[in-house]
Amino acid sequence: MSTGHHYDIVIVGTGAGGGTMMHALAGTGARILVLERGEVVPSEDDNWSPAAVWKDLRYRTTERWTDQHGQSFQPYTHYGVGGNTKFWGSVLYRLRREDFGALEHAEGVSPAWPIDYETLAPYYDRAEQLYGVRGDAGADPTEPPRGPFPHPAVPHAAGMQAIVDDLRRQGLTPSPLPLGLLNPGGDGGCVLCNTCNSFPCKLGAKSDADVCCVRPALQHPNVTLWTGAWARRLITDGSGRHLAAVEVERGGEVLRVGARVFVVSCGAANSAALLLRSASDAQPEGLANSSGLVGRRYMAHLATMMQGFHPFRRNDTVFQKTVAINDYYFRGPNSRFPLGHIQSQGRTHGVMAKVVGDTIIPGIPLGAYDAWVSRGVDWLVMSEDLPTPENRVMLDAHGRIRLHYQPNNVSAHQQLVSETRRILRRLGFWKVMSHSHQARNTTHQCGTLCFGTDPATSVLDPFCRAHDVENLFVVDASFFPSSAAVNPALTIVAQALRVADHIIDTELGA
Ligand SMILES: Cc1cc2nc3c(=O)[nH]c(=O)nc-3n(C[C@H](O)[C@H](O)[C@H](O)COP(=O)(O)OP(=O)(O)OC[C@H]3O[C@@H](n4cnc5c(N)ncnc54)[C@H](O)[C@@H]3O)c2cc1C
Ligand code: SF4
Repeated sequence: MSTGHHYDIVIVGTGAGGGTMMHALAGTGARILVLERGEVVPSEDDNWSPAAVWKDLRYRTTERWTDQHGQSFQPYTHYGVGGNTKFWGSVLYRLRREDFGALEHAEGVSPAWPIDYETLAPYYDRAEQLYGVRGDAGADPTEPPRGPFPHPAVPHAAGMQAIVDDLRRQGLTPSPLPLGLLNPGGDGGCVLCNTCNSFPCKLGAKSDADVCCVRPALQHPNVTLWTGAWARRLITDGSGRHLAAVEVERGGEVLRVGARVFVVSCGAANSAALLLRSASDAQPEGLANSSGLVGRRYMAHLATMMQGFHPFRRNDTVFQKTVAINDYYFRGPNSRFPLGHIQSQGRTHGVMAKVVGDTIIPGIPLGAYDAWVSRGVDWLVMSEDLPTPENRVMLDAHGRIRLHYQPNNVSAHQQLVSETRRILRRLGFWKVMSHSHQARNTTHQCGTLCFGTDPATSVLDPFCRAHDVENLFVVDASFFPSSAAVNPALTIVAQALRVADHIIDTELGA
């Protein structure tokens, strides 16, 4: 094993958490090493090819996880510089103010966070600046108190504007989705194409962690990035309460890298897996696991893709992902419980529909799917799932991820899906189709290393420092005590900025 590498700070992962952290600490002059298991996503024609992305799974990990039935599956996640942000739809929401408190749901209580909205609000401001978020403050009645967005909302395409007008006539309150797109319509900027959500941007015009954070951070001479570098274990000193090094596999070699401070940002499943793999005599159940909660309380949202179809209406919209409906976020039309959030989705391409359709009725020709999706308008319906100890990330005997996830709060989600179906029928669609990844939904994974004030009921403190290990921070989707029902990543970014300030104050002083 090669030793002799030593830095002030080691960050593991370059996604929403790690990439943002890297950017926030780059200007401190501290010697920073960033470890990323994947490589840079190349800029190439395949970026925007539905066949490459959806049929050949060109950019998805080939790793296999197992589910609670012991079935192996390929998780919908990506390992590379920028992490999953390279593929996100760039819908960059603040949680609602109420999401930070305890909220009663149909099937249980969504627990309170150890910080309130006001604590995170200044960091949301900074996060929106950093990721160039576009929106219209005041248009969404569920929105928390805030100032103007850094940039105006992306205008709806004509077809979506007509739908927005119809939604208003139904008595609903549609609002523009907050989106991170760089300079849309401008020189070298976003061209508002139909291959954004789930595709990497060939132009580098999507506000992802690679473009907004990693590339600028690497301009600083004190920041080093190792790609193809898999952190396999964290190693403590004799006390078990202080991290000494990370063991890294890179280019067929195993290296040991020491640092004063370690920031783990591998994503909710992989950060928990790394801590479990780092069990030692001092911490036999896994690193930072005196609460027994490492890997537990996994959440991922209940998500259903829906499509309104009309045989005689061609959908000419190119960039479709601009509309949000939050009327049922806190209560349903016939229920006092929260149902969740509805957003228009990027265009479905025939190949994408065929990949899903072939798992149900194989053999339908691609042309039929092309004809169908050209007459469809796509939506994503999303509800909060609740944290339970049984929904968890574990390791199998070979150290691979086992994901036990049984969706809950399903009745609320079913109501929201039914209500969305009614809304789409009232918009005149003849047929409404729906599809869900159900228990294997990993795109919005969160909650496996919950933050809180009590070491008995949380893994991390409110600044995402491990209760049990003084120089270990975990800054990614793991810290969420609840999943809320809007997209998670802006909250990861905001908390990363807050934790970076804390690290500067407490760890990088003279
Ligand atoms: C198709 C898709 C669309 C999405 N759309 C949206 C959206 O519109 N809005 C939104 O808010 N969210 C969206 N999300 C979710 C969002 O991308 C994630 O919430 C966010 O990226 C999570 O950030 P993270 O830092 O927790 O992890 P990630 O972004 O996944 O980053 C983790 C990083 O750690 C690296 N890594 C993992 N293990 C190791 C290891 N052992 N050693 C070294 N490196 C390691 C990975 O390669 C990766 O780079 C979407 C996700 C997907 C897949
Ligand atoms: S050009 Fe714009 S819409 Fe298209 S992938 Fe890039 S950021 Fe997304």
